[in-house]
Amino acid sequence: TAPILDGRAIAAEVTTRVAEDVAGLIADGITPGLAVVLVGEDAASLVYVGRKVAETRRVGMRSIEHRLPVETTQAALLDLVADLNADPAVHGILVQLPLPSQIDAAAVLDAIDPAKDVDGFHPVNVGRLSTGGGLIPCTPLGCMMLLERVIDDFRGLNAVVIGKSNIVGKPVALLLLERECTVTVTHILTRGLPEIARRADILVVAAGSPGLVRGDWVKPGAIVIDVGINRVQGDDGKSRLVGDVAADEVAHAAWLTPVPGGVGPMTIACLLSNTARAARAANPSRP
Ligand code: NAD
Repeated sequence: TAPILDGRAIAAEVTTRVAEDVAGLIADGITPGLAVVLVGEDAASLVYVGRKVAETRRVGMRSIEHRLPVETTQAALLDLVADLNADPAVHGILVQLPLPSQIDAAAVLDAIDPAKDVDGFHPVNVGRLSTGGGLIPCTPLGCMMLLERVIDDFRGLNAVVIGKSNIVGKPVALLLLERECTVTVTHILTRGLPEIARRADILVVAAGSPGLVRGDWVKPGAIVIDVGINRVQGDDGKSRLVGDVAADEVAHAAWLTPVPGGVGPMTIACLLSNTARAARAANPSRP
């Protein structure tokens, strides 16, 4: 297989840096606080929220959890968001998606104070992503941090992004463009995707389709970031997680992020990093 771009190890380094930053903030009298709001009992969301809470505490930040019943109304959720916006002990607010169908997720995200929007999904932060500044969504930021480990100069590189979602594909494409890559964004209706992928020096795959990217889609020496997380049934009948890239076919890549252990751990590390950043920005007089 290709050399592994080890997200777990790099996330651990980022997390250590955040913990140092948090210790500094606490010494200045500011304990960064992250509020996590979970509505309902979605199994995957419970796992994600559990991990986020544990990591938040591990770096010394305050974790404020709000677990609401599945029948929570939009008005009640908006009231909670307003309270969190007003609470000076809360520096980051994360409303775990998906939300139950009676709630308009966009309206809830719109209600979060952009300065506390550590997921980077508020329209103000989405806009700032294209002009610079603002809080950057965690998974795309994690992808960039991984790439920065192995690329000194992004300028002029051909970057191909597979997937155009608001949470991964589009923001990662903007971040690559900001670094002066030549960016091609593709999706399920793109024609001739294998040929386009083969032009990539940097290939970011966020399609949610197991094994989509085959060996002959990848140019020798390309750097491949596999964002996909897919649960599949193995030959032994047990379920396991795989990415969107047929990892055993891309030994000729310069680097490949594994699944699990690639982008996933970086996402949480970036959430912590965004929260520390929001706490610092909320207290500009402090060093
Ligand atoms: P999404 O379903 O919102 O978007 C998928 C995108 O991929 C769409 O734009 C679609 O057009 C495109 N696509 C789907 N099948 C395709 C195909 N066969 N060929 C070309 N394009 C195709 O998904 P998302 O939320 O962006 O997530 C994508 C994947 O990344 C999922 O597997 C998800 O679980 C994973 N993910 C991982 C993390 C992480 O922390 N590692 C975070 C978010 C999402």
